[in-house]
Amino acid sequence: MSVDRPRPLVAGNWKMNGLKSSGEILSALQTSYTPGLKAKVELVVCPPATLVHSFAVASVGSRIAIGAQDCHAKESGAYTGDLSAEMLADAGATYVLAGHSERRQYHKEKDADVCAKAMAAHRAGLTAIVCVGETREEREAGKTIAVVRKQLRGSIPVDSNSHNLVVAYEPVWAIGTGLTPTAADVAEVHAAIRDELKRLVGKADHAKVRILYGGSVKPSNAAELMAVENVNGALVGGASLVAADFLAIAGAYLG
Ligand code: PEP
Repeated sequence: MSVDRPRPLVAGNWKMNGLKSSGEILSALQTSYTPGLKAKVELVVCPPATLVHSFAVASVGSRIAIGAQDCHAKESGAYTGDLSAEMLADAGATYVLAGHSERRQYHKEKDADVCAKAMAAHRAGLTAIVCVGETREEREAGKTIAVVRKQLRGSIPVDSNSHNLVVAYEPVWAIGTGLTPTAADVAEVHAAIRDELKRLVGKADHAKVRILYGGSVKPSNAAELMAVENVNGALVGGASLVAADFLAIAGAYLG
């Protein structure tokens, strides 16, 4: 591994799954997050907002970071049902997803909304995991690289750096479907993201920004996907709800 390569990060997106009893999954992760694994890979768990505080309290000392799945762009105000980045930071989150494709699809979030949320995350001291990715139709039309570059330009705030930004490439057609792009396809998109980051984050820091791959990552395909150039970890949905699977995915970095 080259000395300049950023420390890999494997993040679990629990989506709308998890009750208080799911603390058992976090406990299992803590037990198996051995010093050897800690040295190789950072783990982040993004439970539903109802569990952020208790998970943050429970994970003190284990070095498993806790993230939220979304935030509002404003600090406070008359936005019933929403949560600000400051509230999530206060609850103990250190990461927050911005622009997951399910937010873009079901809540009609546009790049400008995603950018505002990522800015809010930075304002509150959180690291934003900004998600981008093409639909099946866009891939079939040969528009993947153009779509992803446009999403990055619209979604990444100007104050981004390798500490407050992680990018997740998640082809929409690969999320929850069991389908994945080929390693060559992932390499092509991640190279384009790295190139775009040169302009968006600056030459000095762009190489250190983690670029995660997400979309049907499983123990059986993690090693191949994590070995791709410019893949610095994974954003994991379904498999992150099973501690053994999530750990096996992170274990791809044990070599
Ligand atoms: C996700 O929700 O970000 C995701 C990648 O889901 P899955 O791993 O289930 O495809």
